[in-house]
Amino acid sequence: MSCLYYRDSHLYIENINLKDIAEEFGTPCYVYSRSAIETNWRAFDEAFKTISHHICYAVKANSNIAILGLLAKLNSGFDIVSLGEMERVIAAGGDPQKIVFSGVGKKQVEIERAIEKKIHCFNVESEPELERIQTIASRLNTTVNIALRINPNIDPHTHSHITTGLNESKFGIDINDVISLAKKISALDSVQLIGIASHIGSQIVHLDPFLKVIDRLLDVYKQLQQIGINLQHINIGGGLGITYHDEHPPGIREYAQALQDKLHQQNIRVIIEPGRAIVGNAGILLSRIEYLKHTQHKNFAIIDAGMNDLLRPALYDAWQTILPVESRQTEKKLYDIAGPVCESADFLGKDRELALNPGDLLAINSSGAYGFSMSSNYNSRCRPPEILIDGDHATLIRRRETIDELFASEKTLDLAHCK
Ligand SMILES: *Cc1c(COP(=O)(O)O)cnc(C)c1O
Repeated sequence: MSCLYYRDSHLYIENINLKDIAEEFGTPCYVYSRSAIETNWRAFDEAFKTISHHICYAVKANSNIAILGLLAKLNSGFDIVSLGEMERVIAAGGDPQKIVFSGVGKKQVEIERAIEKKIHCFNVESEPELERIQTIASRLNTTVNIALRINPNIDPHTHSHITTGLNESKFGIDINDVISLAKKISALDSVQLIGIASHIGSQIVHLDPFLKVIDRLLDVYKQLQQIGINLQHINIGGGLGITYHDEHPPGIREYAQALQDKLHQQNIRVIIEPGRAIVGNAGILLSRIEYLKHTQHKNFAIIDAGMNDLLRPALYDAWQTILPVESRQTEKKLYDIAGPVCESADFLGKDRELALNPGDLLAINSSGAYGFSMSSNYNSRCRPPEILIDGDHATLIRRRETIDELFASEKTLDLAHCK
């Protein structure tokens, strides 16, 4: 459910009028609801309560340290994909022993530092990665927990850019190679196999692919049991979709129930790695209309947020609801909502029926996940601030980037000596 609602023709998050946010912090800016984030996290925790479970929030969905801190306070674990994300979690007060480390390209320094911090487990995505972890752990005289990320070859029926569990995908280990690899691991003394994992994609709106994944993982789990390899956990990844437009994803409760029904018989812990389902609908991007531009073919609303601030529409052709912060009774027109970036792909929404005036504020809904975390400085634009609303209070949790910061780490050349 969205965190936005209208009161007296004005758009609110919790008790705050978004118009006041724009006045205080300027636009564009990201605005999140604390209560929505916590409610979603708790919904997962509550829904899985009948079995042993561990929620590892996928940090890449939204990695602001204030948000990570809120989740750490709820005792959340974290799924990370880089050293940077690990350091964020630790800076936010997260417990390293609740971190699982995913990703196909873990570098040596990343593995070393994660071992040093004693994270819970590496989700290993290839045999060479396994060998690298074994070598490092052996050199550091320690034993490291690993899970094998399995590629189950299941189509989640989502956008191809966010499909990760098909044979042609770079992620995970072929399901047919898992048993022999597990046997090999038994002979290694610096790594301990404690689980199997899978993550087949994102924005999945049907239960069926999740059920297929669990079946395949349980199948592998039992095969391993038969050869004397006993696992502590099964990690089913993240991927639960949210409603952006007219999708009807299973609710958190329904999703959890279906998975628990399959896991009940086994005395095994489940790890889940939700990202989008926790933060996606807990945040918006607030932007102001700079110009209305009418051509013979189209009406454009040119706004002050672009694809560098919110990439999803340009990258995935994603549809996000766009709402006026102050609703007008005047006649609606069809608009393309475009940003200022010099790319034709720079749009936030197409063919939207809205009544607009220059200077109006727009809220781009469902921007809490893969919004700020995918933002960039393209076109030398400063990244927007992030604001967390908690009841009657709005807190700046990341200030707007400054022009100085844009090139602070660059250097001009001394050209005097090369004529
Ligand atoms: C991105 C990712 C997730 C989170 O996916 P969502 O669709 O945001 O829930 C979980 N696990 C892994 C390994 C990921 O790469």
